[in-house]
Amino acid sequence: MGKLIDGKELSSKIKEEIKNEVKGFMIKPCLAVIQIGDDEASNVYVGAKEKACNEVGIYFKHLKYDVNVLEKEIINKIIELNNDEYVNGILLQLPIPSNLNEQRIINHITSGKDVDGLNDINVGRLNNNKEGMIPCTAAGIIRLLEEYEVPMEGKNVVIVGRSKLVGKPLISLFLKKDATVTVCHSKTENLSDITKTADILVVATGSKWLIGKNDIKEDAVVIDVGVSRVDGKIYGDVNTDEVKKVASLITPSVGGVGPMTVAMLLSNVIKSYHKMNKTTN
Ligand code: NAP
Repeated sequence: MGKLIDGKELSSKIKEEIKNEVKGFMIKPCLAVIQIGDDEASNVYVGAKEKACNEVGIYFKHLKYDVNVLEKEIINKIIELNNDEYVNGILLQLPIPSNLNEQRIINHITSGKDVDGLNDINVGRLNNNKEGMIPCTAAGIIRLLEEYEVPMEGKNVVIVGRSKLVGKPLISLFLKKDATVTVCHSKTENLSDITKTADILVVATGSKWLIGKNDIKEDAVVIDVGVSRVDGKIYGDVNTDEVKKVASLITPSVGGVGPMTVAMLLSNVIKSYHKMNKTTN
């Protein structure tokens, strides 16, 4: 029977460290979150970020815009926040309405304050093994694997999902760990044959229970990123109850990767704070 990976516990430990660090700061760090529209899931995620900031002493600036806002108005606000010496992190809550150009907006966030690590500069830095902001979910997954002392060097890692938030940054992060990386997506043929080769399987698709016990190899480490809401209930991409009987380590669909995403976001705000205030960390 596989052991559960406790993302909540590690996230609490990281938050406690940040809270203690922030107590010693003269000026409170600040995260600005731009939300456009009133998407139900986004409201929940923004609420979780606000709660986490409050817990550790980071000032949370919530800028909520009507769904009909013009791109220019958002970009002007980003420029203002870029120039504000008291703002350390700027995040555009996704998704945004399809009439707005998401990447163009994100690219206006100055790279040092791009705490989601999604602008072209940070993406390029990660691909070139240079220091920069790393997307929070991907960073959180690596941190969890390190915490549980999962060997990565030489291991077969299969990532299902190629988004800029999760799959793509993980390619660089796992390669940096000298793993052998395979990436699958919706057009991949014979998915199960590939997932069964994984020593470490990361699934980030948003398809309820895409992965069952017949899709993994014995003793694999399984990281479930997906979140689907079906009839008001939350499901992961992995059927945890059956897969945990075959896996050696597995994240639960709630309390696994999710809390780590928030912890890494706080970490990125602190990283920017140190850079802006030229303190060491
Ligand atoms: P996304 O941008 O929609 O990407 C989904 C990826 O999964 C795409 O690459 C897609 O392939 C692939 N895919 C979809 N259905 C598939 C299938 N049946 N078989 C194989 N591949 C399939 O989503 P995302 O932003 O990466 O998020 C993925 C999931 O993780 C969502 O449920 C999201 O809510 C969740 N998430 C959770 C956290 C957290 O903190 N827990 C953070 C981020 C995301 P194509 O590229 O071919 O379309």
